[in-house]
Amino acid sequence: PRIPLPRRIFQPERKNSQGINLDSLKALQNLSKSMQEQLKKPPVLGTEDEKRTPVYSPSHPQEIIGSYKKAGRQDCHHAFDASRAAWKKWRVTDVEERASLLEATANLYEEHYAELMLITMQEAGKTLSNALAEVREAVDFLRYYANQARHLFEPTRLPSVTGEENSLSLEGKGPVLCISPWNFPLAIFTGQISAALAAGNTVIAKPSTLTPLIAKRAIELFHEAGFPKDVVQAVIAPGKLVEDTILKESALRAVMFTGSAAAAKQINRQIAERDGPIIPLIAETGGQNAMIVDSSALTEQVVRDIVQSAFDSAGQRCSALRVLFIQEDVKEKTLNTLKGYLDTFTLGDPLDWETDIGPVIDSASQSELMLHIERFRQKDRLLYEGQLPELEGHFVPPTIIELDDLNELHEEVFGPVLHVIGFHSDKVEEVLNQINNTGFGLTLGVHSRINQFCETVAKRAQVGNVYINRNMIGATVGSQPFGGQDLSGTGPKAGGPHYLLRLANEKTISINT
Ligand code: GLU
Repeated sequence: PRIPLPRRIFQPERKNSQGINLDSLKALQNLSKSMQEQLKKPPVLGTEDEKRTPVYSPSHPQEIIGSYKKAGRQDCHHAFDASRAAWKKWRVTDVEERASLLEATANLYEEHYAELMLITMQEAGKTLSNALAEVREAVDFLRYYANQARHLFEPTRLPSVTGEENSLSLEGKGPVLCISPWNFPLAIFTGQISAALAAGNTVIAKPSTLTPLIAKRAIELFHEAGFPKDVVQAVIAPGKLVEDTILKESALRAVMFTGSAAAAKQINRQIAERDGPIIPLIAETGGQNAMIVDSSALTEQVVRDIVQSAFDSAGQRCSALRVLFIQEDVKEKTLNTLKGYLDTFTLGDPLDWETDIGPVIDSASQSELMLHIERFRQKDRLLYEGQLPELEGHFVPPTIIELDDLNELHEEVFGPVLHVIGFHSDKVEEVLNQINNTGFGLTLGVHSRINQFCETVAKRAQVGNVYINRNMIGATVGSQPFGGQDLSGTGPKAGGPHYLLRLANEKTISINT
Protein backbone atom coordinates (compact mmCIF):
# COMPACT_ATOMS: atom_id res chain seq x y z
CA PRO A 1 0.00 0.00 0.00
CA ARG A 2 1.05 3.59 -0.56
CA ILE A 3 2.35 5.24 2.56
CA PRO A 4 0.68 8.59 3.10
CA LEU A 5 3.13 11.45 3.33
CA PRO A 6 3.32 13.27 6.62
CA ARG A 7 0.96 16.16 7.05
CA ARG A 8 3.15 19.23 7.01
CA ILE A 9 2.27 21.77 9.62
CA PHE A 10 2.59 24.58 7.11
CA GLN A 11 2.46 24.64 3.36
CA PRO A 12 5.78 24.32 1.52
CA GLU A 13 7.71 27.56 1.79
CA ARG A 14 6.76 30.31 -0.62
CA LYS A 15 9.31 33.02 -1.11
CA ASN A 16 8.97 36.47 -2.58
CA SER A 17 11.51 37.86 -5.01
CA GLN A 18 13.87 38.88 -2.21
CA GLY A 19 13.76 35.37 -0.83
CA ILE A 20 11.61 36.36 2.13
CA ASN A 21 9.63 33.45 3.38
CA LEU A 22 5.99 34.45 3.05
CA ASP A 23 4.77 31.57 5.14
CA SER A 24 6.90 32.63 8.09
CA LEU A 25 5.41 36.07 7.91
CA LYS A 26 1.92 34.69 7.61
CA ALA A 27 2.42 32.37 10.55
CA LEU A 28 3.77 35.28 12.53
CA GLN A 29 0.82 37.46 11.71
CA ASN A 30 -1.36 34.66 13.01
CA LEU A 31 0.41 34.57 16.34
CA SER A 32 -1.56 36.23 19.07
CA LYS A 33 -0.30 39.60 20.28
CA SER A 34 0.91 38.12 23.54
CA MET A 35 2.82 35.40 21.73
CA GLN A 36 4.48 38.04 19.56
CA GLU A 37 5.55 39.83 22.72
CA GLN A 38 6.85 36.57 24.13
CA LEU A 39 8.94 36.00 21.00
CA LYS A 40 10.49 39.43 21.40
CA LYS A 41 11.08 39.14 25.12
CA PRO A 42 13.13 36.09 26.08
CA PRO A 43 11.44 34.27 28.95
CA VAL A 44 13.52 32.78 31.77
CA LEU A 45 13.91 29.20 30.66
CA GLY A 46 15.43 27.85 33.86
CA THR A 47 16.80 28.98 37.15
CA GLU A 48 20.44 29.62 37.82
CA ASP A 49 21.99 28.15 40.94
CA GLU A 50 25.29 26.49 41.78
CA LYS A 51 24.21 23.01 40.87
CA ARG A 52 22.95 23.99 37.46
CA THR A 53 24.92 24.71 34.32
CA PRO A 54 24.07 28.01 32.65
CA VAL A 55 23.16 28.20 28.98
CA TYR A 56 24.24 31.29 27.05
CA SER A 57 22.84 32.84 23.93
CA PRO A 58 25.21 32.73 20.92
CA SER A 59 23.91 36.18 19.91
CA HIS A 60 24.57 37.69 23.36
CA PRO A 61 27.16 35.47 25.02
CA GLN A 62 26.95 37.40 28.28
CA GLU A 63 23.25 36.59 28.60
CA ILE A 64 22.16 33.49 30.50
CA ILE A 65 18.99 32.23 28.84
CA GLY A 66 18.45 29.21 31.08
CA SER A 67 20.18 26.42 32.89
CA TYR A 68 20.16 22.64 33.20
CA LYS A 69 21.34 19.94 35.53
CA LYS A 70 24.29 18.14 33.99
CA ALA A 71 23.97 14.35 34.28
CA GLY A 72 26.76 12.57 36.15
CA ARG A 73 28.11 9.02 35.90
CA GLN A 74 25.41 7.62 38.21
CA ASP A 75 22.67 9.38 36.25
CA CYS A 76 23.92 7.73 33.04
CA HIS A 77 23.90 4.27 34.66
CA HIS A 78 20.44 4.85 36.13
CA ALA A 79 19.07 6.08 32.84
CA PHE A 80 20.34 2.97 31.06
CA ASP A 81 19.02 0.56 33.73
CA ALA A 82 15.62 2.25 33.59
CA SER A 83 15.62 2.05 29.79
CA ARG A 84 16.45 -1.66 29.83
CA ALA A 85 13.77 -2.39 32.43
CA ALA A 86 11.17 -0.34 30.55
CA TRP A 87 11.84 -2.21 27.31
CA LYS A 88 10.46 -5.46 28.75
CA LYS A 89 7.00 -3.95 28.72
CA TRP A 90 7.48 -1.60 25.78
CA ARG A 91 8.57 -4.39 23.43
CA VAL A 92 5.11 -5.91 23.44
CA THR A 93 3.23 -2.67 22.81
CA ASP A 94 1.12 -2.67 19.73
CA VAL A 95 2.48 -0.67 16.77
CA GLU A 96 -0.76 1.31 16.69
CA GLU A 97 -0.17 2.45 20.28
CA ARG A 98 3.35 3.61 19.47
CA ALA A 99 2.21 5.41 16.31
CA SER A 100 -0.64 7.15 18.14
CA LEU A 101 1.71 8.34 20.87
CA LEU A 102 4.04 9.81 18.22
CA GLU A 103 1.12 11.59 16.62
CA ALA A 104 0.02 12.92 19.99
CA THR A 105 3.56 14.29 20.42
CA ALA A 106 3.35 15.90 16.95
CA ASN A 107 0.09 17.59 17.97
CA LEU A 108 1.75 18.96 21.11
CA TYR A 109 4.73 20.25 19.09
CA GLU A 110 2.28 22.05 16.80
CA GLU A 111 0.40 23.49 19.75
CA HIS A 112 3.63 24.77 21.27
CA TYR A 113 5.37 25.74 18.06
CA ALA A 114 5.99 29.39 18.93
CA GLU A 115 7.62 28.42 22.22
CA LEU A 116 9.77 25.77 20.51
CA MET A 117 10.76 28.29 17.85
CA LEU A 118 11.69 30.82 20.47
CA ILE A 119 13.94 28.41 22.34
CA THR A 120 15.84 27.43 19.18
CA MET A 121 16.19 31.10 18.21
CA GLN A 122 17.74 31.93 21.55
CA GLU A 123 19.74 28.82 22.24
CA ALA A 124 20.94 27.87 18.74
CA GLY A 125 20.80 31.28 17.05
CA LYS A 126 18.18 30.10 14.51
CA THR A 127 16.59 32.80 12.40
CA LEU A 128 12.82 33.10 12.36
CA SER A 129 12.34 31.12 9.14
CA ASN A 130 14.88 28.49 10.21
CA ALA A 131 13.14 28.09 13.56
CA LEU A 132 9.83 27.62 11.80
CA ALA A 133 11.34 25.04 9.46
CA GLU A 134 12.93 23.29 12.45
CA VAL A 135 9.59 22.74 14.18
CA ARG A 136 7.96 21.72 10.94
CA GLU A 137 10.63 19.13 10.19
CA ALA A 138 10.39 17.71 13.71
CA VAL A 139 6.62 17.32 13.33
CA ASP A 140 7.09 15.75 9.91
CA PHE A 141 9.48 13.16 11.38
CA LEU A 142 6.99 12.26 14.13
CA ARG A 143 4.15 11.73 11.68
CA TYR A 144 6.25 10.05 9.01
CA TYR A 145 7.78 7.41 11.28
CA ALA A 146 4.40 6.77 12.90
CA ASN A 147 2.99 5.99 9.44
CA GLN A 148 6.02 3.98 8.43
CA ALA A 149 5.79 1.82 11.54
CA ARG A 150 2.10 1.11 10.93
CA HIS A 151 2.96 -0.05 7.43
CA LEU A 152 6.21 -1.96 8.10
CA PHE A 153 5.31 -3.66 11.35
CA GLU A 154 2.29 -5.37 9.87
CA PRO A 155 3.42 -9.07 9.61
CA THR A 156 4.01 -10.19 6.02
CA ARG A 157 2.64 -13.55 4.88
CA LEU A 158 5.30 -15.53 2.99
CA PRO A 159 4.86 -18.30 0.41
CA SER A 160 3.83 -21.57 1.99
CA VAL A 161 5.84 -23.84 -0.32
CA THR A 162 6.93 -25.66 2.84
CA GLY A 163 3.32 -26.61 3.49
CA GLU A 164 3.36 -24.44 6.59
CA GLU A 165 2.07 -20.98 7.39
CA ASN A 166 5.09 -18.66 7.19
CA SER A 167 5.23 -15.01 8.16
CA LEU A 168 7.85 -12.34 8.69
CA SER A 169 7.48 -9.65 11.30
CA LEU A 170 9.56 -6.86 12.80
CA GLU A 171 10.10 -6.03 16.44
CA GLY A 172 12.14 -3.58 18.49
CA LYS A 173 15.73 -4.37 19.45
CA GLY A 174 16.04 -2.86 22.92
CA PRO A 175 17.55 0.33 24.38
CA VAL A 176 18.87 2.71 21.72
CA LEU A 177 21.30 5.57 22.30
CA CYS A 178 20.51 8.67 20.19
CA ILE A 179 23.36 11.20 19.99
CA SER A 180 22.19 14.39 18.28
CA PRO A 181 23.87 17.65 17.25
CA TRP A 182 23.29 21.31 18.09
CA ASN A 183 22.66 22.44 14.51
CA PHE A 184 19.19 20.85 14.34
CA PRO A 185 18.55 20.62 18.06
CA LEU A 186 14.85 19.86 17.68
CA ALA A 187 14.49 18.31 14.20
CA ILE A 188 17.34 15.77 14.28
CA PHE A 189 16.84 15.16 18.01
CA THR A 190 13.17 14.35 17.37
CA GLY A 191 13.86 12.44 14.15
CA GLN A 192 16.23 9.99 15.82
CA ILE A 193 14.04 9.49 18.86
CA SER A 194 10.78 9.08 16.97
CA ALA A 195 12.29 6.50 14.61
CA ALA A 196 13.72 4.44 17.45
CA LEU A 197 10.44 4.57 19.40
CA ALA A 198 8.33 3.80 16.33
CA ALA A 199 10.39 0.67 15.78
CA GLY A 200 9.64 -0.54 19.30
CA ASN A 201 12.82 0.46 21.12
CA THR A 202 13.35 2.47 24.27
CA VAL A 203 15.49 5.59 23.96
CA ILE A 204 18.23 7.33 25.87
CA ALA A 205 18.78 10.62 24.03
CA LYS A 206 22.03 12.49 24.40
CA PRO A 207 21.56 15.97 22.97
CA SER A 208 24.43 18.39 22.46
CA THR A 209 25.32 20.19 25.69
CA LEU A 210 25.20 23.39 23.61
CA THR A 211 21.43 23.02 23.14
CA PRO A 212 20.01 21.37 26.25
CA LEU A 213 16.95 23.58 26.75
CA ILE A 214 15.13 22.61 23.59
CA ALA A 215 15.93 18.93 24.26
CA LYS A 216 14.52 19.17 27.77
CA ARG A 217 11.33 20.81 26.52
CA ALA A 218 10.88 18.26 23.74
CA ILE A 219 11.20 15.33 26.15
CA GLU A 220 8.58 16.95 28.40
CA LEU A 221 6.22 17.00 25.41
CA PHE A 222 6.90 13.29 24.65
CA HIS A 223 5.94 12.51 28.25
CA GLU A 224 2.92 14.80 28.18
CA ALA A 225 1.76 12.97 25.05
CA GLY A 226 1.75 9.72 27.05
CA PHE A 227 5.16 8.06 26.52
CA PRO A 228 6.21 6.41 29.82
CA LYS A 229 9.07 8.32 31.47
CA ASP A 230 11.63 5.52 31.21
CA VAL A 231 10.76 4.69 27.60
CA VAL A 232 12.21 7.99 26.41
CA GLN A 233 14.74 9.90 28.50
CA ALA A 234 17.32 12.62 27.89
CA VAL A 235 20.75 12.46 29.45
CA ILE A 236 22.43 15.85 29.18
CA ALA A 237 26.07 15.01 29.78
CA PRO A 238 29.42 15.46 28.04
CA GLY A 239 29.98 13.03 25.16
CA LYS A 240 32.96 11.41 26.86
CA LEU A 241 30.90 10.43 29.90
CA VAL A 242 28.15 8.90 27.76
CA GLU A 243 30.80 6.96 25.83
CA ASP A 244 32.30 5.67 29.08
CA THR A 245 28.97 4.55 30.47
CA ILE A 246 25.96 3.99 28.20
CA LEU A 247 27.96 3.12 25.09
CA LYS A 248 29.74 0.36 27.02
CA GLU A 249 26.51 -1.35 28.13
CA SER A 250 26.26 -4.84 26.67
CA ALA A 251 22.45 -4.58 26.58
CA LEU A 252 22.58 -1.52 24.31
CA ARG A 253 21.06 -2.50 20.96
CA ALA A 254 21.72 0.38 18.53
CA VAL A 255 23.35 3.79 18.29
CA MET A 256 22.12 6.70 16.21
CA PHE A 257 24.58 9.51 15.71
CA THR A 258 24.75 12.78 13.81
CA GLY A 259 28.02 14.72 13.99
CA SER A 260 31.54 14.55 12.63
CA ALA A 261 32.97 11.61 10.68
CA ALA A 262 35.83 11.35 13.18
CA ALA A 263 33.43 11.04 16.12
CA ALA A 264 31.37 8.44 14.23
CA LYS A 265 34.47 6.31 13.67
CA GLN A 266 35.39 6.58 17.32
CA ILE A 267 31.89 5.42 18.34
CA ASN A 268 32.09 2.57 15.85
CA ARG A 269 35.37 1.39 17.41
CA GLN A 270 33.93 1.56 20.89
CA ILE A 271 30.85 -0.39 19.90
CA ALA A 272 33.04 -3.08 18.36
CA GLU A 273 35.28 -3.41 21.39
CA ARG A 274 32.63 -3.67 24.10
CA ASP A 275 31.12 -6.88 25.46
CA GLY A 276 27.87 -7.93 23.92
CA PRO A 277 26.56 -8.39 20.39
CA ILE A 278 27.48 -6.47 17.25
CA ILE A 279 24.96 -3.66 17.04
CA PRO A 280 24.04 -1.21 14.28
CA LEU A 281 25.34 2.34 14.13
CA ILE A 282 23.38 4.79 12.01
CA ALA A 283 25.76 7.70 11.48
CA GLU A 284 25.07 10.90 9.57
CA THR A 285 28.25 12.91 9.26
CA GLY A 286 29.68 15.80 7.27
CA GLY A 287 30.25 16.68 3.66
CA GLN A 288 32.45 18.64 1.28
CA ASN A 289 29.44 19.60 -0.78
CA ALA A 290 29.75 21.14 -4.21
CA MET A 291 27.53 22.83 -6.76
CA ILE A 292 28.36 22.79 -10.47
CA VAL A 293 27.05 25.72 -12.50
CA ASP A 294 27.41 25.84 -16.26
CA SER A 295 27.05 28.82 -18.56
CA SER A 296 23.46 27.97 -19.56
CA ALA A 297 22.12 28.44 -16.02
CA LEU A 298 19.92 31.41 -15.14
CA THR A 299 22.08 33.81 -13.14
CA GLU A 300 19.34 35.21 -10.85
CA GLN A 301 18.12 31.74 -9.93
CA VAL A 302 21.67 30.46 -9.45
CA VAL A 303 22.59 33.36 -7.18
CA ARG A 304 19.52 32.93 -4.99
CA ASP A 305 20.14 29.20 -4.68
CA ILE A 306 23.85 29.65 -3.94
CA VAL A 307 23.10 32.10 -1.15
CA GLN A 308 20.49 29.86 0.43
CA SER A 309 22.70 26.79 0.10
CA ALA A 310 25.87 28.37 1.49
CA PHE A 311 24.67 30.99 3.98
CA ASP A 312 21.29 29.88 5.32
CA SER A 313 21.67 28.76 8.95
CA ALA A 314 25.03 30.60 8.82
CA GLY A 315 26.29 27.62 6.81
CA GLN A 316 25.87 25.33 9.79
CA ARG A 317 24.16 22.48 7.96
CA CYS A 318 25.96 19.35 6.89
CA SER A 319 24.08 19.69 3.60
CA ALA A 320 25.38 23.24 3.00
CA LEU A 321 27.23 24.28 -0.15
CA ARG A 322 30.97 24.58 0.52
CA VAL A 323 32.49 24.67 -2.97
CA LEU A 324 30.98 26.31 -6.01
CA PHE A 325 32.37 25.13 -9.36
CA ILE A 326 31.44 27.80 -11.87
CA GLN A 327 32.10 27.84 -15.60
CA GLU A 328 34.66 30.55 -16.37
CA ASP A 329 32.45 32.22 -19.04
CA VAL A 330 29.86 33.25 -16.42
CA LYS A 331 32.07 33.46 -13.35
CA GLU A 332 32.56 37.19 -13.16
CA LYS A 333 28.94 38.07 -13.86
CA THR A 334 27.64 35.51 -11.37
CA LEU A 335 30.06 36.56 -8.64
CA ASN A 336 29.20 40.24 -9.09
CA THR A 337 25.48 39.51 -8.77
CA LEU A 338 26.19 37.25 -5.81
CA LYS A 339 28.14 39.96 -3.98
CA GLY A 340 25.42 42.52 -4.67
CA TYR A 341 22.77 40.16 -3.34
CA LEU A 342 24.80 39.34 -0.23
CA ASP A 343 25.16 43.06 0.49
CA THR A 344 21.40 43.16 1.12
CA PHE A 345 21.62 40.53 3.86
CA THR A 346 21.49 41.42 7.53
CA LEU A 347 23.67 39.62 10.01
CA GLY A 348 22.41 39.86 13.57
CA ASP A 349 20.39 38.63 16.51
CA PRO A 350 17.64 36.25 15.33
CA LEU A 351 15.25 37.75 17.86
CA ASP A 352 15.31 40.76 15.58
CA TRP A 353 13.03 39.43 12.86
CA GLU A 354 14.81 41.29 10.09
CA THR A 355 17.87 39.09 10.58
CA ASP A 356 18.79 36.90 7.60
CA ILE A 357 21.91 35.28 9.05
CA GLY A 358 22.41 34.57 12.74
CA PRO A 359 25.52 33.81 14.78
CA VAL A 360 27.56 30.61 14.72
CA ILE A 361 27.09 28.36 17.71
CA ASP A 362 29.99 29.22 20.02
CA SER A 363 33.30 31.03 20.35
CA ALA A 364 35.37 27.96 19.42
CA SER A 365 33.54 27.65 16.13
CA GLN A 366 33.81 31.41 15.54
CA SER A 367 37.59 31.43 16.13
CA GLU A 368 38.17 28.44 13.88
CA LEU A 369 36.19 30.04 11.04
CA MET A 370 37.89 33.42 11.46
CA LEU A 371 41.26 31.69 11.37
CA HIS A 372 40.32 29.98 8.10
CA ILE A 373 39.22 33.32 6.61
CA GLU A 374 42.41 34.97 7.84
CA ARG A 375 44.59 32.32 6.22
CA PHE A 376 43.05 33.04 2.85
CA ARG A 377 43.08 36.81 3.41
CA GLN A 378 46.84 36.54 3.76
CA LYS A 379 47.02 34.69 0.47
CA ASP A 380 44.91 37.46 -1.06
CA ARG A 381 42.15 35.02 -2.00
CA LEU A 382 39.13 36.69 -0.36
CA LEU A 383 36.55 37.66 -2.98
CA TYR A 384 33.96 38.96 -0.53
CA GLU A 385 33.54 39.59 3.17
CA GLY A 386 30.23 40.78 4.66
CA GLN A 387 29.64 43.36 7.37
CA LEU A 388 29.79 42.27 11.00
CA PRO A 389 27.06 43.62 13.29
CA GLU A 390 28.00 45.72 16.30
CA LEU A 391 27.09 42.95 18.69
CA GLU A 392 29.10 40.82 21.08
CA GLY A 393 27.77 37.56 19.65
CA HIS A 394 29.61 34.79 17.82
CA PHE A 395 29.24 36.32 14.40
CA VAL A 396 31.19 35.38 11.30
CA PRO A 397 30.75 37.50 8.17
CA PRO A 398 29.49 35.75 5.05
CA THR A 399 32.68 35.23 3.09
CA ILE A 400 33.66 34.07 -0.40
CA ILE A 401 37.10 32.57 -0.99
CA GLU A 402 38.67 31.70 -4.33
CA LEU A 403 40.49 28.37 -4.70
CA ASP A 404 42.48 26.79 -7.51
CA ASP A 405 41.27 23.31 -6.72
CA LEU A 406 39.68 21.25 -4.00
CA ASN A 407 43.00 20.07 -2.58
CA GLU A 408 43.36 23.45 -0.90
CA LEU A 409 40.48 22.53 1.38
CA HIS A 410 41.48 19.95 3.94
CA GLU A 411 38.35 19.73 6.05
CA GLU A 412 34.72 20.68 6.22
CA VAL A 413 34.38 24.41 6.97
CA PHE A 414 31.19 24.48 9.03
CA GLY A 415 30.06 28.08 8.69
CA PRO A 416 29.10 30.91 6.31
CA VAL A 417 32.10 30.54 4.01
CA LEU A 418 31.76 29.74 0.33
CA HIS A 419 34.71 28.59 -1.77
CA VAL A 420 34.71 29.17 -5.51
CA ILE A 421 36.59 27.35 -8.25
CA GLY A 422 36.31 28.29 -11.93
CA PHE A 423 36.31 25.61 -14.66
CA HIS A 424 36.37 25.48 -18.45
CA SER A 425 33.67 23.55 -20.30
CA ASP A 426 36.08 20.78 -21.37
CA LYS A 427 37.04 20.07 -17.76
CA VAL A 428 33.73 18.77 -16.35
CA GLU A 429 35.10 15.27 -15.97
CA GLU A 430 37.98 16.62 -13.90
CA VAL A 431 35.57 18.59 -11.72
CA LEU A 432 33.52 15.48 -11.05
CA ASN A 433 36.64 13.52 -10.17
CA GLN A 434 37.72 16.20 -7.72
CA ILE A 435 34.30 16.08 -6.05
CA ASN A 436 34.19 12.30 -5.90
CA ASN A 437 37.74 12.16 -4.56
CA THR A 438 36.99 14.14 -1.40
CA GLY A 439 35.88 10.88 0.20
CA PHE A 440 32.65 12.52 1.34
CA GLY A 441 29.35 11.98 -0.43
CA LEU A 442 26.49 14.01 0.97
CA THR A 443 24.88 16.66 -1.25
CA LEU A 444 25.57 17.97 -4.74
CA GLY A 445 23.92 20.82 -6.64
CA VAL A 446 23.73 21.27 -10.41
CA HIS A 447 22.54 24.34 -12.27
CA SER A 448 22.15 24.02 -16.02
CA ARG A 449 19.44 24.26 -18.64
CA ILE A 450 20.96 21.34 -20.54
CA ASN A 451 19.15 18.24 -19.35
CA GLN A 452 21.84 15.86 -20.48
CA PHE A 453 24.46 17.75 -18.48
CA CYS A 454 22.31 17.53 -15.35
CA GLU A 455 21.66 13.83 -15.88
CA THR A 456 25.33 13.00 -16.44
CA VAL A 457 26.43 14.89 -13.35
CA ALA A 458 23.67 13.33 -11.23
CA LYS A 459 24.62 9.85 -12.41
CA ARG A 460 28.37 10.27 -11.94
CA ALA A 461 28.31 11.96 -8.54
CA GLN A 462 28.90 9.64 -5.60
CA VAL A 463 26.59 11.46 -3.18
CA GLY A 464 23.39 10.80 -1.27
CA ASN A 465 21.32 13.82 -2.35
CA VAL A 466 21.49 15.53 -5.76
CA TYR A 467 19.65 18.82 -6.22
CA ILE A 468 19.07 20.04 -9.78
CA ASN A 469 18.25 23.70 -10.52
CA ARG A 470 17.33 24.48 -6.91
CA ASN A 471 19.07 25.05 -3.62
CA MET A 472 20.70 22.07 -1.93
CA ILE A 473 19.44 22.29 1.66
CA GLY A 474 16.30 21.54 3.61
CA ALA A 475 15.44 18.00 2.52
CA THR A 476 11.74 17.34 3.08
CA VAL A 477 10.88 14.31 5.21
CA GLY A 478 9.25 11.53 3.19
CA SER A 479 9.86 13.21 -0.19
CA GLN A 480 13.61 13.75 -0.07
CA PRO A 481 15.14 11.11 2.23
CA PHE A 482 18.37 12.63 3.53
CA GLY A 483 21.83 11.20 4.13
CA GLY A 484 25.12 10.48 2.45
CA GLN A 485 27.58 7.76 1.61
CA ASP A 486 31.26 7.03 2.31
CA LEU A 487 32.67 9.51 4.88
CA SER A 488 29.27 11.25 4.99
CA GLY A 489 27.40 8.46 6.68
CA THR A 490 26.33 4.86 6.94
CA GLY A 491 22.73 5.21 5.74
CA PRO A 492 19.87 4.43 5.76
CA LYS A 493 18.48 7.83 4.95
CA ALA A 494 16.61 9.88 7.53
CA GLY A 495 13.00 10.50 6.56
CA GLY A 496 13.14 7.61 4.10
CA PRO A 497 11.36 4.26 3.82
CA HIS A 498 14.29 2.08 4.95
CA TYR A 499 15.25 3.89 8.14
CA LEU A 500 13.15 1.91 10.61
CA LEU A 501 14.40 -1.40 9.23
CA ARG A 502 17.88 -0.77 10.68
CA LEU A 503 16.32 -0.31 14.10
CA ALA A 504 14.31 -3.52 14.23
CA ASN A 505 14.86 -7.27 14.42
CA GLU A 506 13.22 -9.53 11.87
CA LYS A 507 11.38 -12.63 13.06
CA THR A 508 10.17 -15.48 10.88
CA ILE A 509 7.36 -17.60 12.30
CA SER A 510 6.53 -20.94 10.67
CA ILE A 511 3.43 -22.77 11.88
CA ASN A 512 2.88 -26.40 11.04
CA THR A 513 -0.89 -26.17 10.64
N1 GLU B 1 18.61 17.70 6.69
C1 GLU B 1 19.26 18.98 6.64
C2 GLU B 1 19.16 19.57 5.26
O1 GLU B 1 18.69 18.90 4.36
C3 GLU B 1 20.70 18.92 7.07
C4 GLU B 1 20.93 18.13 8.31
C5 GLU B 1 22.26 18.37 8.98
O2 GLU B 1 22.86 19.44 8.85
O3 GLU B 1 22.68 17.44 9.72
O4 GLU B 1 19.55 20.68 5.08
